[in-house]
Amino acid sequence: MVVGNIIILYSITTTIITVINIYNRDIPMDTRTTLARPYVRVDRIKMQELLRSRFKSNGGLSLATKLSANRIASNMFDKCLVHDKDGSSLALDDGSTIRCKVLIDASGLESRLIAKEDPQFARGSTKEYEMGYQIAYGFIAHVDKLGPYNKDAMTLFDYRTTHFEDSPDWLRDGKNRPTFMYAMPLGVNSDGSYRIFFEETSLVGKGKRRLSFDECKKRAYKRLGLYDINVLGVEEEEYCYIPMGGELPDLTQRVIAFGGAANMVHPSTGYHACRMLAASTDIAKVISNGIKSNTDPNTISCNTYKTLWSKQNRGQRDFQVYGGDFLLNQPVDTIRGFFDAFFALEIPVWGGFLAGWPGLPGNTNRAIIIIIIIIIIIIIT
Ligand SMILES: Cc1cc2nc3c(=O)[nH]c(=O)nc-3n(C[C@H](O)[C@H](O)[C@H](O)COP(=O)(O)OP(=O)(O)OC[C@H]3O[C@@H](n4cnc5c(N)ncnc54)[C@H](O)[C@@H]3O)c2cc1C
Repeated sequence: MVVGNIIILYSITTTIITVINIYNRDIPMDTRTTLARPYVRVDRIKMQELLRSRFKSNGGLSLATKLSANRIASNMFDKCLVHDKDGSSLALDDGSTIRCKVLIDASGLESRLIAKEDPQFARGSTKEYEMGYQIAYGFIAHVDKLGPYNKDAMTLFDYRTTHFEDSPDWLRDGKNRPTFMYAMPLGVNSDGSYRIFFEETSLVGKGKRRLSFDECKKRAYKRLGLYDINVLGVEEEEYCYIPMGGELPDLTQRVIAFGGAANMVHPSTGYHACRMLAASTDIAKVISNGIKSNTDPNTISCNTYKTLWSKQNRGQRDFQVYGGDFLLNQPVDTIRGFFDAFFALEIPVWGGFLAGWPGLPGNTNRAIIIIIIIIIIIIIT
């Protein structure tokens, strides 16, 4: 407790000092913040294999087909999905039918089954939370040199705009619709060239501030051009599209949304995987207890949603939506200033905001995180 309070006091002091510094000066382009933290790239194939094998060894069955039901009204679908008091009947695309007591929809960020909450009931507001989009173009490249990127470190937020300075149009666009480069060195090849993952990312954008994959790609190559980094070959490309924010699922519906379908993506960072993994145990417990105790399906859904989007979790997410809206509207210099102040905070504080889900590190600092981030935002804007 005492240690916690000392961390918090120290955080507030450092924040205020840093913010005052930012207020008085722009950040020089060569300023770097070094965070002594590991950063890893998840092997998604291996992770899927691990989860699938656990699922299978516990009696799970996968079917190579899909459900193409369409929602008509609350808890009502076309003939592909029919609820009754004991469970649900599903007619799948391959002609087979299955019966289940509880239906969990993990079909991703643009689910066709899940109804969203009416903001009037959720927050007493007629204004809907709009979606923002994280757009990025990433690639594993073989390059002749690393330029400013350290071969032993992951560069998280390279928000520099020096590569635009030879063109007023590029510079204007780069300032108003910022993107940053992730650069994660992955090793040295036998011919002395480097293997590195680059990703030019628009953290969150919507409307005119939403970038295309092609714009991110052009910006990535323009940035590398400034440092005379030659791409010798591209091993793998990724097109990152992450819808963020928006309304939560209607908590009274029978189908249980999980993951992207339940809007669990962090609305200001796009992080999701850690939140999903952290939530899965709690959710599985509620559903499993409900099935074992022969609870009716509506009550199981209701109890699951209460755990997933508890009052505390909703409050925390509302603040994260506010964080996303703030970032969405700032020019690049304010964003650089914001992150300079943000990463000057203590690790449990900034880490707590980035993960921002019960059970993840730093989450107990949520109240102080809100106060500190609001102070930063007020001062720098
Ligand atoms: C390039 C890229 C990079 C990313 N990087 C990160 C990152 O670094 N960190 C992070 O936390 N997040 C990252 N994300 C976001 C993250 O991948 C998503 O938030 C996450 O995959 C969503 O998980 P999900 O299980 O809810 O949905 P999905 O992963 O989209 O899975 C949905 C599954 O449901 C299936 N499906 C859909 N409709 C039906 C249907 N009608 N019937 C049966 N099956 C159906 C789909 O085929 C799919 O297999 C990234 C996303 C992209 C695209």
